Amino acid sequence: MEKRVVGVLGAGQLGRMFVEAASRLNVTVRLLDVGDTAPAKQINYAPSTSSKGQSEHIDGSFADPAKIKELASKVDILTIEIEHVDATQLQSVLDQGLVDGVHPLPSTIALIQDKYAQKKHLSEKGLPVAEYMAVGPEDLSSLKDAETNSKDQALGVSKAAEAFGLPLMLKSRTQAYDGKGNFVVRSQQDTQQAIQALGGGSRGLYAEKWAKFVKEVAVMVVRSSSGEVRAYPAVETVHKDSICHTVFAPLRVADAGVERRAREIAEEAVATFGGAGVFGVELFLMADGQLLINEIAPRPHNSGHYTIEACETSQYENHLRAVLGLPLGSTALKVPSAAMINILGLADSDKDGEAVAKTLAPAVASLSVPGATAHLYGKAGCRKGRKMGHITIVGQSDAQVRQRLETVERALD
Ligand code: ATP
Ligand code: MG
Ligand code: MG
Repeated sequence: MEKRVVGVLGAGQLGRMFVEAASRLNVTVRLLDVGDTAPAKQINYAPSTSSKGQSEHIDGSFADPAKIKELASKVDILTIEIEHVDATQLQSVLDQGLVDGVHPLPSTIALIQDKYAQKKHLSEKGLPVAEYMAVGPEDLSSLKDAETNSKDQALGVSKAAEAFGLPLMLKSRTQAYDGKGNFVVRSQQDTQQAIQALGGGSRGLYAEKWAKFVKEVAVMVVRSSSGEVRAYPAVETVHKDSICHTVFAPLRVADAGVERRAREIAEEAVATFGGAGVFGVELFLMADGQLLINEIAPRPHNSGHYTIEACETSQYENHLRAVLGLPLGSTALKVPSAAMINILGLADSDKDGEAVAKTLAPAVASLSVPGATAHLYGKAGCRKGRKMGHITIVGQSDAQVRQRLETVERALD
């Protein structure tokens, strides 16, 4: 059906589930990531093609320009499973005609990589975001030595505290994931510690007003190459220690208008970007019913894992269809209720594998739970908080799903 080969920057769990979707449609995927045993490479057969026995996958970093070029020379379309890639090199392989397309557009990836630039873009487009402010120079290229930057940033934090009050959220502009680029500034005395924790003045920072949300919400949106946008149902995401823990689909709140508005805002936001693919839009639901966009991921997203079992077309298949310009599939739920729970590493790996065994206990428990599907990512080493797998549970009602979820959660205790 499809002769074009898709190249993916990154071969973690998102790439692995993308490969699963692609394999059902006979689409060949080639991957760039470090090592031969990255989660997505494990399930994607790529025979040796040279006398040196080299795999058709690329062993290297998705931030390495030479490796990106090497992947580009083997494939027709490039996409990503992580946004921390070299966007300049993606633009250049596109300009050189090495590939027929890069999705989402390298300019969109670059914009989203800088969370401050992303916020600025969204607010300029009239989309609702928490108040925010640059801390230190707005232009990242004018960052100076660490000492000068730290001084500028300390001044910036005190300005932000004056404007937004405390606590406030100090955020790293780039390379953030799982809350690792965030620091809650509760008093002015925290300022130095916050700046040190977030890179000690060598990285760009910005401040956000504290969002006293009542719930966190996420919406996956797929954008076709012709610019059509389709939202999946809004879901509730529950974070623990800044890492996504559970997802409930669909979002249930007394005012049904909130679910619709979340989808509309997410579609509107994704419509402002170029290129095709799925985007994960994270939002805060405030007590007065207002929705604020937290951030957007230009790729399949943890909050959209549930779509594999619960929607007519999964986020991974729709991402594939979008980047190849194939017709998009329905984003509707095909079950009344669903939940997803992440399996996070309980401890750093120990010699006898006890940490791994304990970590995977909920997956074992899920095998006898009706409506549950376990996804393990094949990661060799376990680290505390590392995403090792997830379980999706579907059911005929929220009550049934919650009850099934409890059985799985009990295995965690
Ligand atoms: P991800 O893994 O989703 O990419 P990230 O490292 O980019 O995470 P954010 O999404 O910015 O980090 O923040 C992580 C979590 O921290 C949010 O899901 C939310 O729970 C909390 N948070 C972020 N910004 C704020 C804010 N302005 N006010 C209150 N809580 C916040
Ligand atoms: Mg993020
Ligand atoms: Mg986030």
